[in-house]
Amino acid sequence: MPLNHLPTAELQALDAAHHLHPFTDGDALNAKGARIITGAKGVFLTDSEGQEILDGMAGLWCVNIGYGRRELAEAAARQMQELPFYNTFFQTSHVPAIELAARLAELCPGDLNHAFFNGSGSDSNDTNLRMVRHYWAAKGKPGKTVVISRWNGYHGSTMGGGSLGGMKGIHKQGGLPIPDITHINQPDWWSEGGDMTPEDFGLMRAQELEAKILDLGEDRVAAFIAEPVQGAGGVIVPPATYWPEIQRICDRYEILLIADEVITGFGRTGKWFGSQTMGIRPDIMTLAKGLSSGYIPIGASMVSDEVARTINSADEFAHGYTYSGHPVAAAVALENLRILDEEGIVERAGSEIAPYLAEAWESLGDHPMVGETRIAGLMGSLAMTPDRERRAKFAAKEGTVGLICRERCFANNLVMRHVGDRMIISPPLVISHGEIDLLAERARRALDETFEEVKAKGLW
Ligand code: PMP
Repeated sequence: MPLNHLPTAELQALDAAHHLHPFTDGDALNAKGARIITGAKGVFLTDSEGQEILDGMAGLWCVNIGYGRRELAEAAARQMQELPFYNTFFQTSHVPAIELAARLAELCPGDLNHAFFNGSGSDSNDTNLRMVRHYWAAKGKPGKTVVISRWNGYHGSTMGGGSLGGMKGIHKQGGLPIPDITHINQPDWWSEGGDMTPEDFGLMRAQELEAKILDLGEDRVAAFIAEPVQGAGGVIVPPATYWPEIQRICDRYEILLIADEVITGFGRTGKWFGSQTMGIRPDIMTLAKGLSSGYIPIGASMVSDEVARTINSADEFAHGYTYSGHPVAAAVALENLRILDEEGIVERAGSEIAPYLAEAWESLGDHPMVGETRIAGLMGSLAMTPDRERRAKFAAKEGTVGLICRERCFANNLVMRHVGDRMIISPPLVISHGEIDLLAERARRALDETFEEVKAKGLW
C-alpha cells in the first residue's frame, strides 16, 4: 500500500523504526525525525509539509539537469519494455551500453575512448584500483601496486573507495585503508597554508607526490588518484600552481593519473570535465553522478587507448558487476547527455551561470563570519572564521558552527551542506539568475542567524 497519504510524523516514525540512513547518527536523527522529501521540479524540492526548498546541492552534487525531466523517465520506460536487463559478461553486448560507451568516448578529453561500466562512483574507483594493478602486471611490472591519494580526498565508501579516500573518520571504521594505498597532503591553502603564498603552497603540496614516489620507489607505484577540485572535503579549489606540477610529476615517472570526476564531470566546473578546467591529461577518469544527473545509478571508468590496449591483450580481467552497463541506466544516461548537450546546459553553465553565481557567492565575503569564498564553476565553498586575517578556527569543536549554519539554511528552505565549518554549494546547472539571487539571499539570512546563535552561545 502506498504511504503517500500518511502524516509526516507517522512517516518519520516508520523511517526511524526500519530505515538505516547512510553517513548518519541514527539515534540523533530518529529523535528529531527526517524531513520527508516528496517531490521536486527544477531546482526546488517539496517536503511532506508542503514547503518548497531551494536545493543548493543538486541532491548529492548530481542532479545537473535539474529535477522533473520527463524525457529521462520516458527513456527508462522505453528501455524497460524493450530490454530491461542483459549482462555484458559472456560474449554479449547491447545497444544502450554500446551507444553510451561511444558517446562518452566522444565527450571525454584526449584518448579516453573506452568505458568500463559500474554501478556508482565507489564501484568505479574499486574498478580503477583493480584495473591499474592488473594493467601493470600485464606490462610485466607486478610490483607496481601502490596507489597514492590525498588526505581529505573522497573516493567513495566501499573498502577500496574508502581506502583511496583520505577521510580519517572512514578509515577508523573497518580497518581501512587496505594495503598498498598511501596518502599525501591536500592543497588546502586556507586551512594549512600558514604564511606561504597560495602559489608556493600549491607547488609544495604537489611536490609531496614526487617525494612519495621517490620514497617508495618508482617500481612500486601504480597510480595517483585525485579529484580535480575536492568536493566532499569542502570544495577545495587548489592554487593555480598545483595541477601543472602534478601533471609534470606523473609524466616524468611511470605513474598513471586517475582523475576522479564523479563530482566535477558533466559541467560542474563550467566545462564538460574538471580535467579540462584544470588542464590535466588523465589516463583514467572516474564518472558517476552527473552521468545520469542522479536519475538512476550508474558509473564508469573511462580509460585511455593505451590502458585499454593493455587490458585487452592481457589475461581476462576478473572483475565486473551484474549491473555493469545496465541497459536502463545506460538509456537514461544517454538521454541526460543528449539534453545537457542539445539544450546547451553545460555551455551556458560555463559562460552565463558560473560568472553570475561567482559574483553572488563572493558577495557573501563581506559577512563578519566569512573568511574566504572559493568557487570553481558551479561548486563553491565559504570558510567561516572568528578572525579572517588570521584564518583562525572557532574555539568550539570543528563543525559545531557549520552544523548550526546548515540547520539555519534548512530552516530557511535552502539546502547547503557543511564540511567542518565550511559551507558548500553545488546547485543544478539549470539554476537561473533569479534563483541564484534567492540562494544568496537565503544564505545571507542563514549566516546572520548563525552569527546571532554563535554569539548567544558564547562561541564567538
Ligand atoms: N568520488 C567522488 C569524488 C565523490 O564525490 C563520490 C560521492 N560523493 C564518490 C566518488 C562515490 O560515489 P558514490 O557515492 O556514487 O559511490
